[in-house]
Amino acid sequence: MAPPQSWSLVLHGGSGRITPELVAGDGAEAARRGLARALDAGAALLAAGTPALDAVEAAVRVLEEEPSFNAGRGAVLTAEGRIELDAAIMGGATLAAGAVAGVTRTRHPVTLARAVMERSPHVLLARDGADRFALDHGLEQVDSAWFELPERRRQLEELLARGDAAFDADLKYGTVGAVARDAAGHLAAATSTGGLTAKRWGRVGDSPLVGAGTYADDRAVAVSCTGTGEVFIRLAAAHEIAARIRLAGAAPLAAAEAVMAEVGRLGGTGGVIAVGRDGPGGWAFISPGMFRARADGSGGREIAMYGA
Ligand code: ASP
Repeated sequence: MAPPQSWSLVLHGGSGRITPELVAGDGAEAARRGLARALDAGAALLAAGTPALDAVEAAVRVLEEEPSFNAGRGAVLTAEGRIELDAAIMGGATLAAGAVAGVTRTRHPVTLARAVMERSPHVLLARDGADRFALDHGLEQVDSAWFELPERRRQLEELLARGDAAFDADLKYGTVGAVARDAAGHLAAATSTGGLTAKRWGRVGDSPLVGAGTYADDRAVAVSCTGTGEVFIRLAAAHEIAARIRLAGAAPLAAAEAVMAEVGRLGGTGGVIAVGRDGPGGWAFISPGMFRARADGSGGREIAMYGA
């Protein structure tokens, strides 16, 4: 009989220019507190023997409520000043997955993604239809103004004032994500985001695309990504990490580092969190910093944001 697994939980709150010069004081403290709250919520469930899927959903729900991060309340605005939220969740035991893109009224996009996984025959629902599905299934709806913070409006105006060519490349990617292994050894991953400031044309990033920004397979790893979504999509980054582990026998963090190096070669930036079949979970990032946190069943606990 296989020995009992120790649980492990890793979170991210996005990547980017998170340096002591640019992110300090109250802003850094608020982000740290938000990560701590999410870590506590997920860790309490895992310590009680709850499945990894419940733990990643619970942790991401906390991060969606935290204004420090670009997901749920505090999400960035599109070029038209709207909120369009993307999320995905996946369970490694059965490869069950659910995702939503361009949601405008559902308070917890990660819970909507889970409802798509468990209560529809589909994997990915988009825009009005996804909100309608949420309504039909009794998920909490809010006015889209509820998600909006004055700071995000200011960031949008600043970016638009810089001209058409200006995009979000310099700013933080504040997407949130969670990966976990539960006491039974099952893996799960979840990601939630507002995408990129001033996005247009119904742009969808990597976060809600299974295999790009989110992936979980009990045979290999659970992964959630943050960064230049277009590059993560082209590399199928989360699945690429899983494939290197499953087919080439790579260690999870070595595979994560190798794929992040490829993200860099293609002109992208960002990071990933990963947890494998055993051992503690961790991260790899090529951006100056990444909001990140981890805890495990042997008492490990860490919250960090700046580069090593
Ligand atoms: N990867 C996300 C996207 O492209 C952005 C982020 O990580 O904040 O939508």
